[in-house]
Amino acid sequence: MTSFLPVRIGVSSCLLGEEVRYDGGHKRSTFLIDGLGAHVEWIPVCPEIECGMGVPREPVRLVSMGGGYQEGRGSAGSLRMVGIESGRDWTEEMKASAKTRVRALGRLELSGYVLKSKSPSCGKEGVPVFPAREMSGEARAAGNHSGSGLFAAELMRYLPLLPVEDEARLGDRIARRHFLLRVFSYYRRLLSTRDFSAKALEELCCKQARALESLTNRSLS
Ligand code: SF4
Repeated sequence: MTSFLPVRIGVSSCLLGEEVRYDGGHKRSTFLIDGLGAHVEWIPVCPEIECGMGVPREPVRLVSMGGGYQEGRGSAGSLRMVGIESGRDWTEEMKASAKTRVRALGRLELSGYVLKSKSPSCGKEGVPVFPAREMSGEARAAGNHSGSGLFAAELMRYLPLLPVEDEARLGDRIARRHFLLRVFSYYRRLLSTRDFSAKALEELCCKQARALESLTNRSLS
């Protein structure tokens, strides 16, 4: 029997039920664990733990220092990550740790990544960004931008072709199907440099087609 590479997917650890959130909780995703998990090998990462924050910890948020802020991939240039109450600045630790981790992930032949939505570290997009002046109490607590978490921005900058999605978007059937299609085709591209028989590849394609249908049509309620 032909042995293929596992389909490796990076994932925010809390989505697999790991108790790594600031309050010691998790955000277990049944779809990821009981659905997609049957077809892939997870590579869990909690960027906040890896950059030295403990559990429990003060929650952090993104603050815009102004100038050149843009939504989208790799848009973290003018952002700081700070403790909500203390203002403790974690930006440099997070950036350094994310840089190292993302390069290590690049060597693992990932075929995709599922990020935790809205997180200042892991959020792919739409993460609230607060004005800097608010830290001195001059403004009310209201976001005036949205963007990517610091780890997510580094991931998407370093691996720009890697299929990336967040767990909230995977609740949408069309977005889920699109992500899975991209993951399986990315994976087959990784395989294309290896030597497998046409029959083995055909079997793999059939298996992935069945997985695609079943995961797309799975009820998430
Ligand atoms: Fe850790 Fe990311 Fe989950 Fe926050 S969202 S607990 S940083 S894995």
